Amino acid sequence: MEQKTALITGASRGIGAATARRLARAGYAVAVNYCRSGDRALALVEELRAAGHTAVAVRADVADPEQVQKMVDNVLDKFCQLDILVCNAGRSWVGLLGDMTPADWRQLMAVNLDGVFYCCKTVMPHMIHRKTGKIITISSMWGQVGASCEAAYSASKAGVIGLTKALAKELGPSGITVNCVAPGVIDTEMNQNLTAEDLEALRQETPMERIGRAEDVAESVLFLASEGADFITGQVICPNGGLII
Ligand code: NAP
Repeated sequence: MEQKTALITGASRGIGAATARRLARAGYAVAVNYCRSGDRALALVEELRAAGHTAVAVRADVADPEQVQKMVDNVLDKFCQLDILVCNAGRSWVGLLGDMTPADWRQLMAVNLDGVFYCCKTVMPHMIHRKTGKIITISSMWGQVGASCEAAYSASKAGVIGLTKALAKELGPSGITVNCVAPGVIDTEMNQNLTAEDLEALRQETPMERIGRAEDVAESVLFLASEGADFITGQVICPNGGLII
């Protein structure tokens, strides 16, 4: 059977790296996108290859459509096909909206929302041509309910959910599913600004009584990438331990 392939953006660490590991273990050839953390992306690729998996590292700033085009061309050159796109790359910005400058806002939107648009738009012609493909976007529970001091982040992640649902309607007739994973609080570097007390309070608020792991999110992505999810599109899956229900 032909090996399926996946491109995961922002896979140098955190949720993206866990997703690359999980998909590789499930038999996918994985393209690990990174922007600034080249050393970590290359180390991950080495680790996956040493375990017998197929992996390549591809640099691109997802906020730059030309770099995204080159990245996708590069992946298609290497893998000849792309079955799964995981739009995971993201940044946070914590603070009062009143303290945010227009430049801060634009930079956040450029990565979190424009980046998803560029990646989807760039892989779509290939997937439409093949009449198959799965696009999985990574939003956040804050895109569902809104977080104080993360208004712009919440807006960008709500935008990702809207884009996912609309694109699912557009691409369904072409045999392509588009779904979203909206994680709760996950233990990654993105949350390193949270104190031990903050994390403990969040843990206690969570019905499953723990903070999420990057691997929890990777399992949701793996499911949406699988044939078992062939009839699921436009949906939001929430690995959040029940923090918002
Ligand atoms: P993380 O540990 O901070 O990792 C972020 C990743 O995004 C890194 O690999 C980084 O790559 C990449 N990235 C950032 N800007 C990029 C750009 N312009 N182009 C390409 N890659 C870029 O964060 P994480 O927690 O794993 O978050 C991954 C995704 O999950 C994000 O979309 C985040 O919003 C979402 N999420 C996280 C949580 C959470 O609690 N952690 C909850 C809900 C949703 P480089 O270092 O190479 O630049």
